[in-house]
Formats: sequence, C-alpha cells, structure tokens
Amino acid sequence: MSTVLIIGAGGVGGVVTHKCVLNRVTFTKIVLASRRLESCEKIQKQLPTGAIEIAQVDADNVQETADLIKKVGADIVINVALPYQDLSIMDACTKAGVDYLDTANYEHPDVAKFEYKEQWARHEQFKKANIMALLGSGFDPGVTNVFCAYAQKHYFDEIHTIDILDCNDGDHGYPFATNFNPEINLREVSAKGRYWENGTWIETDPMQIHMSWDYPEVGPKESYLLYHEEMESLVQHIKGLKRIRFFMTFGESYLMHMKALENVGMLGIEAVEHKGQKIVPIEFLKTLLPDPASLGPRTKGKTNIGIVAEGIKDSQPKKIYIYQVSDHEKCYAEVQSQAVSYTTGVPAMIGAKLLLEGKWRGKGVFNMEEFDPDPFMDELNTQGLPWQIKEL
Ligand code: NDP
Repeated sequence: MSTVLIIGAGGVGGVVTHKCVLNRVTFTKIVLASRRLESCEKIQKQLPTGAIEIAQVDADNVQETADLIKKVGADIVINVALPYQDLSIMDACTKAGVDYLDTANYEHPDVAKFEYKEQWARHEQFKKANIMALLGSGFDPGVTNVFCAYAQKHYFDEIHTIDILDCNDGDHGYPFATNFNPEINLREVSAKGRYWENGTWIETDPMQIHMSWDYPEVGPKESYLLYHEEMESLVQHIKGLKRIRFFMTFGESYLMHMKALENVGMLGIEAVEHKGQKIVPIEFLKTLLPDPASLGPRTKGKTNIGIVAEGIKDSQPKKIYIYQVSDHEKCYAEVQSQAVSYTTGVPAMIGAKLLLEGKWRGKGVFNMEEFDPDPFMDELNTQGLPWQIKEL
C-alpha cells in the first residue's frame, strides 16, 4: 500500500498522474495537488471516476505543504510544479518525513541561474530524517543520466566524452510556442551556453556553437550547445570524463522569434512599470503564448533524445549512441499530452516506482546516475519509452 502525492497539475503532472493510475499495483492511492484546484479537476476528468483524489496547495508554503503530505499519508512526493518550488517542497518532505522526487533543479525566480548547490546542501537534512530525495527524474535530466550510467556499467572501462543530444521535431502549427512552461524554457534557451572540458566550465555566447546531427527516425537537424543541469552531476559521477556537452535542436522560426522577443526586452525577468502597474515581461509573455498543455492535440512529429559516449573498453576505443524516440501523436492518444510532457512524466513515475519498490534506496539527496541503471532501463522499455543502442 503506497500513497503518492503529485504536486503540480500542469503538462508533466498530467502524464505522471495517468501513468501512476496505470501502475496501480505500486501506487495504491494517488493524490494530485496544485496551486489551483481547477488544474487538478481538468486532469481528474480525463481518468476513471475515483481513480485519484485532488487537493489545493501553495507549494511555496512549507508548512501548508507538510500539513498536506501528512493529511494524505503520502509515502512519496513527486514534485512536478515549477523549479521555484523545489526547496520548499524538499523542506516540507523533511518536516513530514517522506521521500522526495523532482524533474528539474532549483531556480530562484529572480535570478536566471540553475544549479544543484542548494538541493545538494540538504543531503544531511534528508539523511538525518532517514529519507531520500531523487533529483532530476525526468528525461533530461533523468533518462540521459541513466543512459550515461548504463554506458559506464556495460560498455566502457572509462568514458572520455559525452554529448547529450536533444531533438524535438514536433510541429504544433503555431509560429511560436514553447513545449513546456515558457518562462522556464525561454530562460534556459536564452542563457549563455556552457560545457565542461578537462575540469573547467567553458562559457559561450547563446547559440554560439552548433552542429548538424543526424537523429535516427528524424533526420539531420541543426543542434545548438546549451548549458543543461545534468552535466553538473555527471561530471562528478562518470569515471575518467574529459568533456561533456549538451545540444538541443531549434527550428528557424523559434530562433527568429526568440531573438526578436529578447531584443525588445520581452524575456526580461525584472519588473517594469506599465501604466502604474509592475509587470515582469517574461510573465506577461507567458500569458500571451499558447498554453503548452493546449499543444498536445495539434503536435505532430517525433522527439529523439540520447547520448553519444566515447571512451575505452579493454584498451580499445569505443563509441556508442543510446537514444529514445517518441511520437507526439502516440503520446497524446495514450495520456492526452504531447511527447515533451510524456517523456518527462514517465521517468518521474518510474523513479517513484523504483523508490517505493526498494530497488533504488538511500538516505540523503541523490542524482539518477548514482543508482544501478538496469531496473530503470527495463522500466523504460515497458512503460512507453523504449530505447536503442548503436555502436558507432
Ligand atoms: P506547467 O507550467 O505546465 O505546470 C506547472 C504546474 O505547477 C502548474 O499546474 C501550476 O499550478 C503548478 N504550480 C506552480 N506554482 C505552484 C505552487 N506554488 N504551488 C502548487 N503548484 C504550483 O509546467 P510543466 O508541467 O511543463 O513542467 C513541470 C516541471 O517539469 C517543471 O519543473 C519543468 O522544469 C520540468 N520539466 C523537466 C523536464 C525534464 O526532462 N527533466 C522537461 C520538461 C519539464 P496551477 O496550474 O495549479 O496554477
């Protein structure tokens, strides 16, 4: 008997809830909570009557969240609200004494910077409370970390370079829209690029480094170097690593709109005065853009996310590509969400499942690659995210 409390009834929250319902043997009671009850009701209506319970919570409020965790008797909290809520939900979990899982690392609403520092700093707090936090159990971070751990375990004595390659070839028919929360997405993409080589972080201008990569089942796509959070933990846990980079594909139209919005100040995160009212430009932009949840029924095409690892096995050079292809329309048919939410929500459910089944256990705060990748890789194949390996 396990109770899961899912916090955040957005695009990803919807997928996690659907997938927990499909894994009823593990998640015997499912509670979905969010800032607005109507967001939970929307998801509840997609499911059989009585499948889930819903609740309202302001996850910025530690005490309120801890009270809800205790009231519903949660064994684990899946945080799929926004990265701004990570620390308050983690603190609520230690107060209530239950395990924690998220899919994105903490960001301060006023500083466009994301890093694990403040979440890792809670390691002792979690250890003392005899509970565990699993950080970044989405696709990237998440599955990409597990792919790296799998490559390290089964294919290499030493991995020297890793390129994480993220392609979304979906077409939603709008000239400009973001596939997940616009604020989070645009802050990430418009930031300076960064990669790690020989022990140091090297900063680049936004979109400065790019290459064409031929993604299986999609084709060649221009891919741009960005900073991405999983690199921060992978450089600590992958043996012999000399370089790690992250690339993401963007279409012409997306880049052109983003540049124009940036040039006119619409990506600003500081409040400006407008007719006597304070407005944060990027928050206002979010109001104007299509709701990512509404893209599901319109999006066609595929995603392909994977890693290319190069290194040494038995003194011989080796290079492998592990990747996963998802189809937006198939995802929508299954859980009424497009592939970006789907590929994040499924790994969140799998992470929680492995914790509850005792297959991934620890006391403290952990990243995905610190655990045995095999049970996670098996679950990916059976829960809707089958993967492939190619020797290059
Ligand atoms: P959405 O904006 O669609 O959903 C976020 C939800 O969080 C909303 O439903 C919102 O509530 C809720 N929320 C916001 N603030 C609070 C609060 N204070 N208290 C309670 N609930 C709150 O985002 P997504 O579903 O697209 O993304 C969810 C998370 O997944 C994000 O952290 C994102 O960064 C992460 N992500 C991770 C990826 C990965 O691969 N690792 C990829 C994509 C996303 P309401 O609707 O009730 O107002």
